[in-house]
Formats: sequence, structure tokens, C-alpha cells
Amino acid sequence: MHIGILGGGQLAMMMIQMSRKYNFDFIVVDPSDNPPASKYARHIKSNYNDKNTLNLLINECDVITIDFENVPADALKYLEGKIKVYPNSVSVEVCQDRLKEKNLFQEIGIPTTQYKKINSEEDLISAIGEIGNDSILKSRKFGYDGKNQISMDNCTPENAWLKSSGVEAILEKKVNFKTEVSLIGVKTEEKKTFFYPLVENFHQNGILNSSIAPYENKVLQKQAENYHNLITDKLNYIGVFVIEFFINEDNDLIANEMAPRVHNSGHWTNEGADISQFEAHIMAITNLEIKSISISGYSGMVNILSKMPNEQKLINNSSYNLYDYGKSERENRKLGHITCVKDNRNDLIENINDIKSMLI
Ligand code: ADP
Ligand code: MG
Repeated sequence: MHIGILGGGQLAMMMIQMSRKYNFDFIVVDPSDNPPASKYARHIKSNYNDKNTLNLLINECDVITIDFENVPADALKYLEGKIKVYPNSVSVEVCQDRLKEKNLFQEIGIPTTQYKKINSEEDLISAIGEIGNDSILKSRKFGYDGKNQISMDNCTPENAWLKSSGVEAILEKKVNFKTEVSLIGVKTEEKKTFFYPLVENFHQNGILNSSIAPYENKVLQKQAENYHNLITDKLNYIGVFVIEFFINEDNDLIANEMAPRVHNSGHWTNEGADISQFEAHIMAITNLEIKSISISGYSGMVNILSKMPNEQKLINNSSYNLYDYGKSERENRKLGHITCVKDNRNDLIENINDIKSMLI
């Protein structure tokens, strides 16, 4: 089996690492020089819409997947029909655009915060009149890790519009949330879905800082699974799919965004589940049968941003699994993460706090 991945970041790297036992051949396409996955697979340095590269993938691969959602949907469209492409271009197109994403949530009946399409400063002024200043201006495209978001509470519409460079955006009401969770599920070609338990996510400055699983709430788990099935059915989706939610003060799930791929909040599944999100995705897109997915104990994950820690310090201090993506250090760049698994939640939280204090 030959698998092509568009994007060679840490998610591609872990898809390859965590499915080693199947002996699949991977080809990774990425325009950068030494992306993390290039250590573990053949790397083609190319733009994603280069026809020669896409034709090579068609000739050499059985299935194509992605490691980030900003792959041009046109490249996926070109591949579709000639070769299996999971996720399909429509799903990727929707998930690239916050407006399309939120419109889909609404169309299906999944609650979101109040939002408005913004194409001009006038749109912004009128949307603030409706939604208020307790809101965020978010670019429709290319936002990640809290980038391209402007909090409106101490910014005039004029300044915000200038700061945003006038790109197509949405204005979104801030949710006064109790916490944030995500649901990771994998859909197979046979239209079965396997879910991980909800995971609780803690962000700092819009960037995921740590995750703890499971978030135990049977009602919300069922509700989130229903929402997930509605979306993957609508999109005819195959592979791992993730929805991020706020839990508001009334304990309702409010959908924030979704990802047509494996997700940072699922890294704990490498040690905390019998089939990780990475292996599950590869199994689904290659039509290997998934019988069940189960988890053990309580798992946590802490992201390493900006600077790699002194490894010796960590070895001496706790039980952990350190993942180093092999990237150069840069402010707020995700360089790696640490996971740990414990039998009870209190021990896990203690361990997570230890790890966090060592990363400061
Ligand atoms: P990204 O693609 O950068 O992850 P998100 O929309 O998920 O974009 O925003 C990142 C984080 O910023 C969220 O996880 C949340 O902590 C905070 N945030 C985003 N939108 C809102 C909102 N409407 N209300 C409150 N917090 C928000
Ligand atoms: Mg997010």
C-alpha cells in the first residue's frame, strides 16, 4: 500500500510513525526543506498544486491524505476521481473557511456563537452594533493557533480593519465558556464511526497548551457524537475528523471549529488508547478493519512551544513521553509535546502540573 500525504509536518510524521507495523510506503509532499515527516518517508519538495507532483502521486499511490487543512482544495479536486482522496476536497474546502464551517454547523442544527460575515469596515461597524464589542474579528482563512484574530473589546472597528489588512473575515461573539473540549472520531469506508472520549483542552493566547482525557460527561459525549455523525454523513467523510467545542455556563456544547484531520488535542491517544488517532486514520483510509477503540486510565498532553526543554531535567522528574518534532526554535512555534498516562485523574493532574513547571 502506498500512501501520499500533502503536508509533511508533525501530524504526517506521527501518522507514519504510529502505523509502522503495516509496512506501508509513504510519500510526503511539502514545499519546505526538511519538514518533520521527511525523516521517516520519501519527501518531494514541491508546491501542492504542481501538476507533475500530483501526477506522480496518482501513478505511485493508492490513497492520498493531508496533514493540514490549508492544502489547496483544487489540488485535491485534481486528484479526486483518479485516486482515493481522504478527506475529500469538499470537506477540506469547508474546514478552510470559518464562514462556511459555521454556516454548515448552523444548517445542520449544531449551536454556534453568534457570527456575521465581514467584507468591509462598514460591515464590521454594523456587526458590532448587533453583536457588541465583546467579540473577535477572525480571518475566514489561514488562521491557526489564535493567529489572525483580533479581540474587539479595546479596538476600534477602523483599527481592527486596518490591522486585519482587510481580509475576508467573520465577527464572532465571545463565548463565556466553562471549558473547552474536542471530539475525535474516525469514520470508515463502511460508514462506521469510532469515537474517543471527549478531551478537555486548555489554551493560552489562543494556542493549545494542554489536554486532559477523558472529559467524563455521558450526556455531552452522546451529544457531541451525534453532531460529529451529522457532519461526517453530510460531508461523506472518511478518516479522522475533529470538532472543537466550548461548554458554556448552561453546560451546552457550542461548536467552535472543526478539522478534517488528526488533531493536536488527540496526541494523548498514542499512549492512552489501544489504537491512536494516527493509526486509526491510516487504518480508515486504507480500509483496514477497525473493530473497536478503547482507552486506558487518564491521559494528558502538554505542548512544547518556542523552546525545547532540557531533556535531562525532564528525565529526572517524571514519567512522561517526549516527542520532538525536530523543528527549529521560534516564538510560539509548536516544537514537540509531552504525554503521560496515570491510573487516576488526581495523579495525572499533578504530573501535568510538574511537566508545565519544568517547561517554564
Ligand atoms: P484556531 O484555528 O487558531 O485554533 P479558534 O477559533 O479555535 O482558532 O481559536 C483559538 C482559541 O481562542 C479557542 O480555542 C478559544 O480558547 C479562543 N476563542 C476563539 N474564539 C472564541 C470565542 N468566540 N469565544 C471565546 N474564546 C474564543
Ligand atoms: Mg481551534
